[in-house]
Amino acid sequence: MMRVGLGWDVHRLVAGRPFLLGGVALESERGERGHSDGDVLSHAVIDALLGAAGLGDIGEHFPPGDPAFKDADSLALLGAAFALVNRAGWRLVNLDCVVVCEEPKLLPYREKIRASLAKTLNVPPAEVSVKGKTAEGLGDVGAGAAVEALAICLLEKIEKTEKTEKKEKKEQ
Ligand code: MG
Repeated sequence: MMRVGLGWDVHRLVAGRPFLLGGVALESERGERGHSDGDVLSHAVIDALLGAAGLGDIGEHFPPGDPAFKDADSLALLGAAFALVNRAGWRLVNLDCVVVCEEPKLLPYREKIRASLAKTLNVPPAEVSVKGKTAEGLGDVGAGAAVEALAICLLEKIEKTEKTEKKEKKEQ
């Protein structure tokens, strides 16, 4: 069985914050404001994965007001969300993402971001795509006041072999 999931997120860009995408720090005078580290791409990917698995959303699992998640490492949160998805019997087939911001340019960081997400999600980098776009000067994103991320993923149910089923029964 296959399931598709969609995620979206937006964060304001402010001075004195790191600009993180998929756990990779980009050189920039401004970065994402957020209760966590503000990594907008990791947040969109979390929602895509949880959505595909029917496990709710990021706010439910990692509430934004919770002191436990103050300045939290969002890539670690992504790892935790993926562990839930895995435990529910799903593996990632592929992930496709779009990051919309005026600057910095994404291209110099793209392979690093793909590798970081792929490692966290236990797939080869070839199964993770990250694309950078600008908003052509339109709206808040176009004015450089915000960064937006979209993610879509495909999950596949892990088929249990007779052997693993027997082993699981034994362990119960
Ligand atoms: Mg967010």
